[in-house]
Amino acid sequence: MSEQNYKVLPRDVEQGEFHQAIEKFRALLGNENVLVEDAQLKPYNKIMMPSEDAEHAPSAAVTATTVEQIQGVVRICNEHKIPVWTVSTGRNFGYGSTAPHHRGQIILDLKKMNKIIHVDAELGTALVEPGVTYQQLYDYLQENNIPLMLSFSAPSAIAGPLGNTMDRGVGYTPYGEHFLMQCGMELVLANGDIYRTGMGGVEGDNAWQVFKWGYGPTLDGMFTQANYGICTKLGFWLMPKPPVIKPFEIQFEEETDIAEIVEFIRPLRINQVIPNSVVIAGVLWEASTAGVRRADYTSEPGATSDAILKQIQKDKHLGAWNVYCALYGTPEQVAVNWNIVTGALKQLGKGKIITEEEAGGTEPFTYRAKLMSGVPNLREFGLYNWRGGGGSMWFAPVSQARGSECDKQYALAKQILNKHGLDYVGEFIVGWRDMHHVIDVLYDRTNPEETKRADACFNELLDEFEKRGYAVYRVNTRFMERVAQSYGPVKRRLEHTLKKALDPNNILAPGKSGIDLDKFNDW
Ligand SMILES: Cc1cc2nc3c(=O)[nH]c(=O)nc-3n(C[C@H](O)[C@H](O)[C@H](O)COP(=O)(O)OP(=O)(O)OC[C@H]3O[C@@H](n4cnc5c(N)ncnc54)[C@H](O)[C@@H]3O)c2cc1C
Repeated sequence: MSEQNYKVLPRDVEQGEFHQAIEKFRALLGNENVLVEDAQLKPYNKIMMPSEDAEHAPSAAVTATTVEQIQGVVRICNEHKIPVWTVSTGRNFGYGSTAPHHRGQIILDLKKMNKIIHVDAELGTALVEPGVTYQQLYDYLQENNIPLMLSFSAPSAIAGPLGNTMDRGVGYTPYGEHFLMQCGMELVLANGDIYRTGMGGVEGDNAWQVFKWGYGPTLDGMFTQANYGICTKLGFWLMPKPPVIKPFEIQFEEETDIAEIVEFIRPLRINQVIPNSVVIAGVLWEASTAGVRRADYTSEPGATSDAILKQIQKDKHLGAWNVYCALYGTPEQVAVNWNIVTGALKQLGKGKIITEEEAGGTEPFTYRAKLMSGVPNLREFGLYNWRGGGGSMWFAPVSQARGSECDKQYALAKQILNKHGLDYVGEFIVGWRDMHHVIDVLYDRTNPEETKRADACFNELLDEFEKRGYAVYRVNTRFMERVAQSYGPVKRRLEHTLKKALDPNNILAPGKSGIDLDKFNDW
């Protein structure tokens, strides 16, 4: 492409300046790794948010294969003040996908850097490059007969540990809090330096993947959900595969059971009788991952009625709430814990327990069991077929793991969603002491009127939850600035002070988590 022809440009960058930068990228990376044509950029502009595609159109995408090339990209971006949005496997669906935070940023796509650098079967550690997928790592463990298991997000097969961990994603095994299991990062900073966290800076040291803290300030967390560096290597821990994994489900009949469910689960979780995050899925989450579509039941627009929800529950043999968890260990350990769980359920006096044998290969039990056992699959994408039309935003407020929190949050969320003609498709996930309430705000993005409603709905969810003291742990690029405000001005000033010091040209992913020197003026 010749000068003056670029359809999309970075903020405040002229055609000529941009062309010079593109020529430098070509010299550094080779023509085939610098994408500027419409057709080439299309995959980097697929969004599910209620924004215009144009608002998230990249000006270019570049792919790198070495750390030195990434340093070169950063150098060129500094020279021409070009903002760069980094993705690893780029499957951040519902949070912005592969598209940049705002129009004109270039994409640095790291999927070609896909070396599994090291897996230590004895210590249960791994060190990987950004483009490694969970499926690739799973195959590697299988092929090499390594008795370790993975924890991953539901889009497991196509997503990857580095990107998921950098965005503080979660999984469903006892190692499901992925940032907790991270151990050692290598980053390219905005000035081109290569920084290793933890023990990584010590020449000849071999404890980088086993001891998280190193010496002095521990900075790993600062680089997650942030824009202070580009991660080029990530270390993390893998769980030894136990002799027995016993996944099971407990179905509860009534919507109003939710508070009691959480009160029943919390002690079992905190005491680690149940060592993985416990999912409590609502009926529509269950139904859509079992293959049910809204159109199978109604063609009426708007929110789906409670009568239909009950009908689906009955037809598909689902609970109003469906609890998924697993026990892990030797046969003896699992037997002891099974007795504790079934004893506690007996005391509760409600809930129908379903074992893997009883589920007999049906969905959604099968995919849930796979997620809890470290076997990649893509079944959860069934959520997108419930309403169709490709609109999806995760609304994920965090709270204490208490029944009373569920009562408040569930009623409020359902009322707001229904008011905007949308459905509650949600689950509660009981971590150790916290609870993530994960709602997929699904809407038909091909319908402008519904898209407008979805946008208003998401704004109202954020506003009303914030009024009651709740904030989300992660959000799509459209709402990053809004959510950053929920966390208060002091945090924002500190984050921007760091940004100024580390990346004065504001080139690394401006806008990520609301950090953008060009926009912030609340010093
Ligand atoms: C049906 C469905 C179910 C889902 N379930 C889950 C779930 O269970 N758990 C969960 O966590 N998510 C879930 N997601 C959301 C998302 O798809 C996953 O989190 C996915 O793992 C993220 O994509 P990725 O791994 O390809 O990371 P990427 O898209 O590569 O990265 C994610 C973000 O991290 C940052 N980043 C990436 N690479 C770097 C780098 N090298 N340096 C610095 N920053 C970087 C960027 O901001 C990027 O946008 C789900 C999505 C769908 C559609």
